Amino acid sequence: ITEIRLVLGDQLNAKHSWWREKQDHVLYVMMEMRQETDYVKHHIQKITAFFLAMRNFAQALEHAGHRVHYIRLDDADNTQSLTNNLENLLQQHTKANLSCMLPDEYRVDHQLRSWAGKLDLDINWVDSEHFLTPRAILSEWFPGKDNFLMESFYRRVRKQFNIMMEGDKPEGGQWNYDHQNRNKLPKNETVVAPYCPENDVTEIHQMLQDQDVQSFGEIDPKQFIWPTTRQQARDILAFFCQHQLAHFGTYQDAMTDTEVHDHAWSLYHSRLSFAMNSKMLHPMEVVNAVIAHWRENQDSITINQVEGFVRQIIGWREFIRAIYWHHMPAYKNLNALNHQRDLPQFFWNGETQMRCLSQAIKQSLKYAYAHHIQRLMLTGNFALLAGCDPDQVDAWYLGIYIDALEWVELPNTRGMSQFADNGVLATKPYISSANYIKKMSNHCAQCRYSPDKKTGTNACPFNSLYWQFLSRHESHFSNNQRMAMMYSLWNKKPQEEQRALLDQAEHYLNNMDEL
Ligand code: FAD
Repeated sequence: ITEIRLVLGDQLNAKHSWWREKQDHVLYVMMEMRQETDYVKHHIQKITAFFLAMRNFAQALEHAGHRVHYIRLDDADNTQSLTNNLENLLQQHTKANLSCMLPDEYRVDHQLRSWAGKLDLDINWVDSEHFLTPRAILSEWFPGKDNFLMESFYRRVRKQFNIMMEGDKPEGGQWNYDHQNRNKLPKNETVVAPYCPENDVTEIHQMLQDQDVQSFGEIDPKQFIWPTTRQQARDILAFFCQHQLAHFGTYQDAMTDTEVHDHAWSLYHSRLSFAMNSKMLHPMEVVNAVIAHWRENQDSITINQVEGFVRQIIGWREFIRAIYWHHMPAYKNLNALNHQRDLPQFFWNGETQMRCLSQAIKQSLKYAYAHHIQRLMLTGNFALLAGCDPDQVDAWYLGIYIDALEWVELPNTRGMSQFADNGVLATKPYISSANYIKKMSNHCAQCRYSPDKKTGTNACPFNSLYWQFLSRHESHFSNNQRMAMMYSLWNKKPQEEQRALLDQAEHYLNNMDEL
């Protein structure tokens, strides 16, 4: 063996140029480690999905004739540390050099580099060949700037990769059709049942128990719903194109209640984030499949459905990653609003009478999944209004979701959702009162609290917390033009009304576990 090539658990890219040739002198190394199960407390389905996908990937490599060394979590000689395991292997294969794909997480990148530095080891770095844009794209495309707009970034990617373009104009005449994508789900809508693989994960589940790996959330080991092979990932993509794409944009922002609609947890979302973040699916493959399906079905699928989806992947996903690498490691410690409150206990069990939060959290515990608006406008909105410590909020999002890897979780949570980056990602905080939740969901009708009441018994906590947030951060936001209207409304309120709202909020904040 003259070359050891490390494949991390989120580098399952079957199309990588590494596998083009079978080479007997190359040993591929993959490892399950306590360092990865324990850096944050994860949902049980998240650990299971990564380990099973890794095992399946290793098997596929072996079938294709590659040499693979796979270290299981319970192997006797597993040191449970990435760098210690690598060191052992390099001692066994004294003639071998080490090659690594660039990690996507700063944590792992830093670990490998500082270890190699100490040993005076030269790692041969290669690209993971997954993203459309390199890590440092922001300084390349917008030199000298420190303020970046997703929309400008997105247009540039579309032009560069010639995606839905007619010459240098966007197909259909507009870059963005978001104004058509804000519909509530009608009561009589029949939501399509999502396609889910049914994996048996008993063996891994048993191993995690035997090894006493700490986790949370629910799992059905006989019917595991997340894709763990490339074929399963492709099946979900095909199902999305066939059955969900036609409604994706229209109901992208909608939320609904399990009492009102079946399949409320998934609606018309693709559930492809795990397949993409583990790299089983390439973003271009997803985008090409969706666009090709649309071209063949233009009579039944409108452009806003497709553009909305494509923007999430080639716009938001790439942009978020670029922001992460532009601002790390400082980004991880930002807390612009100085929020310190503990995350309420109900985030861990869903036991709250606020129907929308209870549904979003319980479904997250059940499926390790919530869609974007649930993450942003329910749990995220509440944590922000309540002033919860961004470290705790990050740990919750990083732990609970099947797709949570720090490069994508951190900017979304700390930045977009919690405004802890002071507006790097969002020009104003994503906050709302009960009004928005009532408009976009069916939860309020099933709730103990009234969305229309701001104070008094049964007043929806989102209302007073919303105004209290604005009041307590008035000096911070007073120069933000996009907030001017909200502050003008707040300042027009009679003093007694302001006082009553602030008292109500204070009462809720002091009794969060009873909400
Ligand atoms: P769909 O709604 O079908 O969208 C298609 C794809 O677009 C997604 O699979 C995803 O790859 C991409 N996408 C959409 N929005 C974003 C976004 N804001 N950032 C990056 N990619 C996006 N996404 C993660 O992949 N991992 C995370 O840890 C994560 N944490 C989040 C935390 C918060 C507080 C918020 C508000 C959002 C977070 N997101 C995260 C973004 C988004 O919510 C998920 O990507 C999406 O819900 C995944 O479900 P889906 O595959 O069904 O997405």
